[in-house]
Amino acid sequence: MKELGCSFKIATSAPLSKTSKTERENRFPFLPYLYTMSKKVRVRFAPSPTGGLHVGGMRTVLFNYLFAKQQGGDFVLRIEDTDQNRYVPGAEEYIMECLQWCNLLPDESPYNGGAYAPYRQSERKALYKQYAEQLVQGGQAYYAFDTPEELEEMRTRYRTADNPQPQYNHILREQMRNSLTLGDDEVNRLMGEEMPYVIRIKMPAGEQVQLTDMIRGEVHFSTSEVDDKVLLKADGMPTYHLAVVVDDYLMKITHAFRGEEWLPSSPVHILLWKYLGWEEAMPQWAHLPLILKPDGHGKLSKRDGDRLGFPVFAMDWKDPRTEELTRGFKERGFLPEAFVNMLAMLGWNDGTAQEIFTIEELVSRFSMERVHKGGAKFDYEKAKWFNHEWIKKLPVENWLPAVKKIYEEKGVMIADDNKFIRVLELIRERATLLSDFWEQGVFFFQAPASIDAASIQSKWTEGKTAFFNAFIALADQLPDWSAAPLEAAFKELAASQNIKAGEVLLPLRIMLVGGKFGPGVFDIAAIIGKEETAGRIRHALQLL
Ligand code: GLU
Repeated sequence: MKELGCSFKIATSAPLSKTSKTERENRFPFLPYLYTMSKKVRVRFAPSPTGGLHVGGMRTVLFNYLFAKQQGGDFVLRIEDTDQNRYVPGAEEYIMECLQWCNLLPDESPYNGGAYAPYRQSERKALYKQYAEQLVQGGQAYYAFDTPEELEEMRTRYRTADNPQPQYNHILREQMRNSLTLGDDEVNRLMGEEMPYVIRIKMPAGEQVQLTDMIRGEVHFSTSEVDDKVLLKADGMPTYHLAVVVDDYLMKITHAFRGEEWLPSSPVHILLWKYLGWEEAMPQWAHLPLILKPDGHGKLSKRDGDRLGFPVFAMDWKDPRTEELTRGFKERGFLPEAFVNMLAMLGWNDGTAQEIFTIEELVSRFSMERVHKGGAKFDYEKAKWFNHEWIKKLPVENWLPAVKKIYEEKGVMIADDNKFIRVLELIRERATLLSDFWEQGVFFFQAPASIDAASIQSKWTEGKTAFFNAFIALADQLPDWSAAPLEAAFKELAASQNIKAGEVLLPLRIMLVGGKFGPGVFDIAAIIGKEETAGRIRHALQLL
């Protein structure tokens, strides 16, 4: 029997623990045969470290994580860095930081190791070649000696209106320099001369490959449509196609979840599983729907985010080659809980109208079968709605450090956490992004740099100046500097001076805050304190 990496579980619902050993043997005379094989669930996120982590990639992380946790399985992070031309320094560390920010931590990874290490394909290089050679020996792959010029010439020569990009496939391979066309002597001679070669899969002509996808059901491919993909490159490095299959096998992956863009490659992978003799161990597949532009036309790209003014990457990403900075959800002011919740709803729901889910709820309710086949439109307004809901839902202490950081980066040091918490509690209803806590709250910690005097100047009177001076004096005598007595004193004073409270409320707000915004004005006065309130009123009176 092939090694399947199985753990064994008793396949019975009988309460065995309540029966004695002999009773059990009587009831289950063939007990050993009642064990069924059930593999421990193992899933992987297998990014290539080529740049920022797109919302689509992050959703793949999440669905892998949810499934693994729900099934009591393992979540593996494997870095697919075999394409050295596309490798970008720092991208791998950045991916790990994104997982950390969202608290979707892998059980095994290049950082925390695991039984199947190493988890970086570049460190597994020596491992792949033997499998490519095995395929050549079995007649399912072949050596190809074509130079880049010869490949280019083939593409030019066979280009037609109907076939603008001729491929190295079951037809054209007959015209090329490979071990199928050259004969053994010539192949041996070229090998002897150390002529560079690649190994390509020999795609059969006219066969059907069938895939059972957990989201899409049965999917059929015609092998004639697929080109003879390179499996091993001239430098001995595997391509993604070979490495992904070998590593999924060696790492005992039971379920491979990845983006829909990989669906066209899946017939190559399925044939490799079969040709390498591992068919029984092949993982179950799910190809997650694309994330579409807000208008539903095409895949959401980083450029759409730049164009429409919203983040597409999980976290800020600075390309070390161009120094270009692309903004991320984290730095835009999203809470990880909200970001994760929003990701879950991109193409999935639990069949009810519920939209706000904790990670624990997601782990228990998630099912791949409920993921939609069709692409999920990205809606930034909805993403912000999730954030607003989570700002209201989570205890202030959870996100206080992130908001404090925003203040401190802008030069406002927070000395008194209790005051900060009072402020944050008061304005959280008004915040959609964490950055909103700056505009909505900075005036609690420093006087407004300017005030919108123009809004009140035209209706200003000497009587109002007198009123505010009287209010400062009256308030100074108040035994309790809190919102309710302040409001009562303010309104009584206005009534006694025949001024409508409404006519002095807006001026008070503008004096304290600078503009026509913010929470209850007496709450603001209560928090900033007696001296500061009086100071701001006096300062404003000088300007009016
Ligand atoms: N390395 C591939 C990527 O960058 C992984 C695809 C897969 O999961 O099979 O997306």
